[in-house]
Amino acid sequence: MSNTLFTNVRIIDGTGAPPYAGEVLVQGNRISRVTRGGRPVPVAGVTVIDAAGATLMPGMTEAHVHLAWNNAATLDAIQLMPLEEHMLLTAANARLYLDSGWTSAVGAATAKPRLDVVIRNSINEGLVPGPRYLAASPEITVAGSLGDDTLPHLPYEEFSFGKVVSGPEEMRKAVRIFLKYGVDTIKLNLSGDNFVPHADAKTTWMSDEEVAMAVRETKLRGKRNTVHARSQESIQQALRHGIEVLYHVSYTDEQTLDMLEAQKDRIFIAPTFSVLVKLAYDGAPYGATRGSVMQRKMEEELEACSASMRALHKRSLRILPGGDYGFAWAVHGENATDLQYLVKYAGMTPMEAIVAATRLGGEIMMQGDELGQIREGFLADLLLVDGDPLANLAILLDRSKLLGIMKDGAFHKEPELRSNRTRWSLPAA
Ligand SMILES: [Zn+2]
Repeated sequence: MSNTLFTNVRIIDGTGAPPYAGEVLVQGNRISRVTRGGRPVPVAGVTVIDAAGATLMPGMTEAHVHLAWNNAATLDAIQLMPLEEHMLLTAANARLYLDSGWTSAVGAATAKPRLDVVIRNSINEGLVPGPRYLAASPEITVAGSLGDDTLPHLPYEEFSFGKVVSGPEEMRKAVRIFLKYGVDTIKLNLSGDNFVPHADAKTTWMSDEEVAMAVRETKLRGKRNTVHARSQESIQQALRHGIEVLYHVSYTDEQTLDMLEAQKDRIFIAPTFSVLVKLAYDGAPYGATRGSVMQRKMEEELEACSASMRALHKRSLRILPGGDYGFAWAVHGENATDLQYLVKYAGMTPMEAIVAATRLGGEIMMQGDELGQIREGFLADLLLVDGDPLANLAILLDRSKLLGIMKDGAFHKEPELRSNRTRWSLPAA
């Protein structure tokens, strides 16, 4: 790992502070010096990247990722993919996330028990490129809810997308097995979803006894729960049980908003607008034709979720881009669209959306003191961007504008504008 000096960069440091011109020195895997202003500070033995005014920002964190989703339009089409192809696809997706500027990601459920664990380990071992990754379990659900795809005439759990449990003891067993495999997060489907007609987004399915058991077993091993919580009752249930990561959070009233606010320093929220937006407005090929029940429900939920996120953003809750990409209507790699959605539907400024993707990203990765900001001592996860994302967040969607992608001090994508000479080299001894 060589040392790198980025000169002539416009720095968006991830804190929300206005951008400034300066230099950033990376030594090993950390940012060792951040210099404001144009006056270069001599340094020996480094590779100099003269960025000619390009933007340098922290690598982004995706808060709701399914590396094992295969861009299909149905849960069955994800689940039934044979294991060998599925593992390779998961690896290809991991690379794509890093290619797209996501240097960290929170797994929000996987499709076969060990896919997420194996890809996380392979990334950490350097076998495949990918973001820093928190590996998820498959979705745990209950009979009849989102993720229960078992059929009466084929009652085999291998055919089910989610792990179906009934009662606290079955929950205990499922959680223990996934923890045994090595997951970082246990995913619980507390509410339904408008994607499945039999269990819509306003319905709540798990018993308090089941949730309590899942949380107890997960915390015993020092791990974390994430929850699918669209209905108001499921959001309140998650808060009652001390769950840290809440996905969707569509339906709220004043009491629920107050409950969320009371725990704002402990919890993270990712609304995953992509599903709602795409199925409300572009969903015809996937069964959400204009005027259909699913389309109308998605549109109504988008309105509710947008109102909830605007209210929660005003109350300073931590809302992150977390996109639920990997479906036919919102394929992997388009995740940066979420930053625009946070502006449009959650009332953020472009700077707030970038802070959500960077500083808050470090926090949801449980590394807030060393990840997600351009700051001395922090891990060197950096994006060199051609242009100003504050003026146009869409440039973060254009991989050709990501001139350089650095993770842990090493270039995943090396800028072509790298100068061939090393400035200020020490004379040979
Ligand atoms: Zn999801």
